[in-house]
Amino acid sequence: MLEKTGVATEQDLAKAIPTKERLAKGPVAIIECFQRIPCNPCYTSCKRGAIKEFEDINDTPEINFEICNGCGVCVSNCPGLAIVVVDESYSNEEALVKIPYEFLPLPVEGSFVTGLDREGKPVCRAKVMKVLNTKAMDRTPLITLAVPKELSMTVRFMKHHDIYSDNTFICRCEELTLGELRELIRKGYNTIDEIRRISRAGMGPCQGRTCRQLIMQELAAATGKKMSEMPISTFRPPVKPIKLGTIAGGERGE
Ligand code: SF4
Ligand code: SF4
Repeated sequence: MLEKTGVATEQDLAKAIPTKERLAKGPVAIIECFQRIPCNPCYTSCKRGAIKEFEDINDTPEINFEICNGCGVCVSNCPGLAIVVVDESYSNEEALVKIPYEFLPLPVEGSFVTGLDREGKPVCRAKVMKVLNTKAMDRTPLITLAVPKELSMTVRFMKHHDIYSDNTFICRCEELTLGELRELIRKGYNTIDEIRRISRAGMGPCQGRTCRQLIMQELAAATGKKMSEMPISTFRPPVKPIKLGTIAGGERGE
């Protein structure tokens, strides 16, 4: 299957995955390189000596998981994009998966993307925790994704933006589409409050629960800012749906 489709088999993967105990200790590189090819930058770039010296340039890499600290240097040096770093110590529910990503535009830190498996199938929603793109990485940026822990050995790539079209509703309550939102941003409406005032997005029954994050994500991508740098919208009471009776009748919601 590997030769025909490029997708590794379970037998291949069994050789590349560390023990549960090692995974629980913290970040570690997973090298999914199973074919004998004349290539060795993973070995030459690892200054900790975690990857065994190649006797032959065609050797496949052998990693010592106990020496590897998951620094990620080999990930951006691998021309085959065959290495990821997995950190299962991140939280009880989520693991971090650091992947090489050579497409533009880069995702925005704090935004959400679609996590893909080795065959390119969507498997989860993933949060972009970090985007690292230094000169030393030679145009192979590293994207750190927070994914459901049970998918740490499944998510190997990501997809963003192009899963939506201009007709995709961003605010379902007020029927603002992605195309209309992008047009407003092009016209200079560059904060979530400005978008809200001109389009009423976020003023419908859900009070922005669906669209707020999506609008901020789009604004961040358009202005080159991180999500954490984006001004958040003004919240006015009631901040969640309540019964009219609660307003009229006091505590009991009569
Ligand atoms: S992640 Fe860092 S320590 Fe681990 S193999 Fe790669 S370069 Fe070496
Ligand atoms: S650099 Fe990447 S493609 Fe080359 S041998 Fe190492 S893991 Fe395989």
